Amino acid sequence: MNKGLLIVVSAPSGCGKGTMLKEILKDNRYYYSVSDTTREPRPNEIDGIHYNFLSKEKFQSKIDQDGMLEYAEYCENYYGTPKKPVEENLNLGKHVILEIEVQGAMRVKQVRPDAKFIFIAPPSIEELERRLLKRDTETMEVIQERVSKAKIELTYSNQYDYIIVNDELKKAIKDFKSIVRACELEVR
Ligand code: 5GP
Repeated sequence: MNKGLLIVVSAPSGCGKGTMLKEILKDNRYYYSVSDTTREPRPNEIDGIHYNFLSKEKFQSKIDQDGMLEYAEYCENYYGTPKKPVEENLNLGKHVILEIEVQGAMRVKQVRPDAKFIFIAPPSIEELERRLLKRDTETMEVIQERVSKAKIELTYSNQYDYIIVNDELKKAIKDFKSIVRACELEVR
């Protein structure tokens, strides 16, 4: 059996990647890598499903035990990809999706150059700000921080293999599936 593809997806927060991935993950050939994080859960988030919510100490001990494929600090919290489930699912032939920010993606590029890198961009920074305000899950200060972060993240988009502009959800999903199909057909 062929190993699955390791697919790294980055997008500034508020790009609509959550909605997009929810649709894509209905296909059970994909496995969504649940990240570890030290940030507090949002009201609708469930431990073990959206993230594994860990203390800083526990997070550090996983790093020390070489349990992370990558990790990064983002807006004063740590986020990381646990290594084991990624490898297990790739070996089962599943396409593993890492939904991670740019620093972590660049780290994966070093250790797993075979991974496919997809950047999801907002139609504009103004639209991104509007979506974050509408979501109403963060304070104004956090929103401003995330918007400035998005501007920086956009400058990394040329390091990725593919860029999808999420101006229309259906089209963005179709683009994503076309990219994955092309990768499946690559001679490996
Ligand atoms: P949020 O707090 O909005 O859930 O996530 C903040 C950022 O952290 C997002 O850009 C998200 O993609 C990223 N992120 C989530 N999990 C990981 C991870 O395991 N590693 C890295 N490097 N970034 C992650």
